[in-house]
Amino acid sequence: MLQAWLSAPRALTLREAAIPQPAAGEVVVRVRLALTCGTDLKTYRRGHAKLPFGLFGHEGTGEIVALGEGVAHLQVGQRITWLPTAPCEACDACQRGRTNLCRRLFDCVALGTYAEYFRINARVARVHVFPLDGLSDVRGAFVEPLACVLHAWRLLEPLPGKQVCILGTGAMGYLHLMEAQARGCTTLVIGRRAERLALAHELGATHTVPINEAQHAQLTAQIHALTEGGADVVIEATGAKAMWELAPALAAPGGKVLFYSGLAKGETVSVLAERWHYDELTMLGSFHCTTQDAHDALRRLREPAFPVERLITDTRPLREVVSVFDQLDRGEGIKYALVP
Ligand SMILES: [Zn+2]
Ligand SMILES: [Zn+2]
Repeated sequence: MLQAWLSAPRALTLREAAIPQPAAGEVVVRVRLALTCGTDLKTYRRGHAKLPFGLFGHEGTGEIVALGEGVAHLQVGQRITWLPTAPCEACDACQRGRTNLCRRLFDCVALGTYAEYFRINARVARVHVFPLDGLSDVRGAFVEPLACVLHAWRLLEPLPGKQVCILGTGAMGYLHLMEAQARGCTTLVIGRRAERLALAHELGATHTVPINEAQHAQLTAQIHALTEGGADVVIEATGAKAMWELAPALAAPGGKVLFYSGLAKGETVSVLAERWHYDELTMLGSFHCTTQDAHDALRRLREPAFPVERLITDTRPLREVVSVFDQLDRGEGIKYALVP
């Protein structure tokens, strides 16, 4: 079979490999579709603190072709999607129900969806494989990224109000926009590129505001004018230190600021302390997702009005995976679907 292999930053090749066989508890799928993801692009560009080089890709859907010994809850022929990780259920975080913070979350990650066949390890297969039951492959493949977004929204509850400001127009920024709209919020999307803001507008954003790094003070004033004093919720989804530092300035008194994107290891940010204290801002971090979030994502994806398909820039054959990452590296496209 064909399989993508990332041996070092930007060293991506397609190689011939043996079709994987399932050990006890494992599942092997024929990949139907794999989606590119910001995490993959980060790994491609500079490696990832928690993920090894080698097998590449984690979002997708497939059809089960083989089951390892003892897998009784799934069947050959089922169309499925999955989360790439699963909790150990033994560590202190798991014991407290904070399974997204499992100490051993990255011990066995299911990687390798940019391939004709893909093996799902036993820990993931046991709890984080989800039959699609009629959901399309494209919508099904959004379970993992949307689950991460819905996890963040669970942390935001109760919402302090209905004005939501989203910083960033990557796939995750758009998924936050869709969730905000599904909840009847008014939305402001801030981004750098005109064509990305145009898509946010088409998706129904109440306001779209271009950002120019030299004019943060002006942008803050503009957002405060549009929201009559600041947004109730500000979601940072750019992964840029300057935007982390700007986000609290856009919030209303009593507002919540959610830092959704991760910064590089060791990075620090500074916050205007008077706003945090005197305006009682709530600052929240959000990381990854839980089983409950995946089920919530599946439910959302069954709503036809939730327009995730709009985030697919193009559908390409798997053999073009190298050129697809070259394009993503140049900033072209939001998400690509790769089909073996
Ligand atoms: Zn992902
Ligand atoms: Zn654990």
